[in-house]
Formats: sequence, structure tokens, C-alpha cells
Amino acid sequence: MRWQGQTIDDADAAALPGLENRTGIVHSVTTPEFAGMTFHEVLAKSALNRVPGGSRMPFSWTINPYRGCSHSCVYCFARGTHHYLDLDGGGDFDSQIVVKTNVAEVLQRELRRGTWNHETVALGTNTDPYQRAEGRYRLMPDIIRALAESGTPFSILTKGTLIRRDIPLLVEAATSVPVDVQMSIAMYDDELEHSIEPGTPSTQARLDTVRALTDAGFRVGVFLMPVLPHLTDSVEQIDQALRRIKASGADHVIYGALHLRAGVKPWFLQWLEREHPELMSSYRGLYPGAAAEAPRAYRQWLAKRIRPLIRAHGLEARHSDDAYPERTLTRPAVLTPPAPPPQPTLF
Ligand code: SF4
Repeated sequence: MRWQGQTIDDADAAALPGLENRTGIVHSVTTPEFAGMTFHEVLAKSALNRVPGGSRMPFSWTINPYRGCSHSCVYCFARGTHHYLDLDGGGDFDSQIVVKTNVAEVLQRELRRGTWNHETVALGTNTDPYQRAEGRYRLMPDIIRALAESGTPFSILTKGTLIRRDIPLLVEAATSVPVDVQMSIAMYDDELEHSIEPGTPSTQARLDTVRALTDAGFRVGVFLMPVLPHLTDSVEQIDQALRRIKASGADHVIYGALHLRAGVKPWFLQWLEREHPELMSSYRGLYPGAAAEAPRAYRQWLAKRIRPLIRAHGLEARHSDDAYPERTLTRPAVLTPPAPPPQPTLF
């Protein structure tokens, strides 16, 4: 979706060079607390985006308060979407963040329409709603309130520990609508995590956030994806990850192998060549030409390896293709502390 179709006709001469004549930029802001980043504040015309027909996802609508993401994951599949803004999918995606400052207000209007039928709305399916900009703009609290007050179920997927700020609000929302919360935590080696997800909170901070959400009564899922061939797919690495996930109180694990769509592949391969040149030929073999998915044989091999491990740790295994079954959208048992995790015995 082109963002200029979402915004008003009002440009700012101080906007990002090249975008001065584009419609919709109200302000381009830099501040010392966010060195190296520019926030392009826009007024959105709509907040709810319809998921294209034929999608396998069990939600029909999404909300993306931000475009671009300061979490800067090298493998981020959304990188290609920045091209629609005439920005690149590399450094621009990480640092030129479009902020829909009026998103909650527009959402409230949309939810009041008689035609709104309260289908599940997903947040965090494109860029992260709890990325750093949220600390400044605080768009999520009003979005959560608007969804809950209108009786609309919703799900949130994030790597942002900032979600802890909104736990009381989420608990309150869950008393009136189903609320599903998932944390994305794929790297369990600090060095690799710093290198490939340079803008994210640490793995441990995210696990601590799973604990906080679990303690608040949510059945939290952890996205253990992308699994990186040769980098994070050994039995030892998966086992260590699952041990920490289980200890955090998570309920289930959603796994999936690395996807490399056209918009992200060059950026990922650039990183791989710099950090792991020895793996270049292997990755070119796994993701040849325009191939976005790892070969079926690798995905089957991964499933065979990871599913028994997930079960051995007492967690429920889901593949990314069935990551959002409706039954996960359940009201949490608010304020029921989870039982201490059993120590699994592996093999
Ligand atoms: S947190 Fe999600 S949206 Fe943000 S860069 Fe990482 S993968 Fe992309």
C-alpha cells in the first residue's frame, strides 16, 4: 500500500530530501534522544488495512502506526516496503521512520462505522508497533483503548520491551475482548543478536518481558523465527533457546526458517558476506535467484529436528503458516501466576 494514498495533501519544505513534493509529510523531526533517526510525521487517512483476500492469516485487518523500523533486523521482510516511499530498504528503513500521528483518532472513527463487524485486528505484522519511536509518540495506548472499547479482538507481535508499559492496559482490554500477545525472539547468541538485530532490546530483556506478560495472565507465544541455516539450527542451539523460552513462562513456540523476499535478500546477503563469508555459497544454494523460501527439504528437515525438541520442553509447537489459530485469541487468565517450569530431560 502506498503511503501517499494514506495521507493528506500538505508537504513540509524541511521534509526528507526528495520527498518535499510528496503529499502527506507534516513534519520531519530529529531529536538528540534519537540520534541518527528522522521521524516523518504524517496524518493518515485510514488506520485499518484490509488483509488481501486469499491470505492464510486468520485476521482480516492490520494496523501499522509506523513505517520503517528502528529495530533494524537485517532479515526483516518489510524492508522492501520502504521502496514505495522512495527510500531504500537498508539504512533508510532503519532510520527514516514514518509516524502516523493521528492513527488512533482515525481508528476510532473507523471502528464507529455501522459496517465494522469486529473482526480480529493484528498489530506488528509489518513493522514493530513497540519500536523506539513508540516511546516518543505513545500511539499504542489509544489504539488499544479504541479496539477494546469497540469490542474488537486484537493481537500484538513485537520485539519491543516497551510493551511492558502497556501491560495494565492490555490486562484491562482483555476483560472485554480476546487479546493475543506474541514476542519475537529468534537469536540466543548475544554476538549474533547484536550483529543481526542491532536495534532491538536484548534477548534476555525480551524473555523478561515474556515473563512479565505471563505473570499478568497472558498465554504468550514466542516466535522462534527466522531460524538461520547453519547459524542457529543446530540441536544445541535450538535446545538452549527452548530452555530459555520455557523458563520465561511462554506457552507456545512458533518456528519458521528464514524467508528472503526480493526486497530484503540483497541486504541480508551483504550482511552475510561481511559477517560470515564462509556461508555465502551455501546460502546462494538454499535461496537461488528469486527464491524466497528455503527448499522444502530444508524446511522438512528443520520441522523434524525442532518439533520434538519443542515438545520435550513442554511447549506447544506451531509452524509460522499456522501461527495465528483462532483458539490462541483467548482471554487470558488475568493475574494467575504460571506454575514453575519443569526442567525437561532431553535425550
Ligand atoms: S522488529 Fe520486526 S519489523 Fe522491526 S526490523 Fe525487526 S523484523 Fe522488521
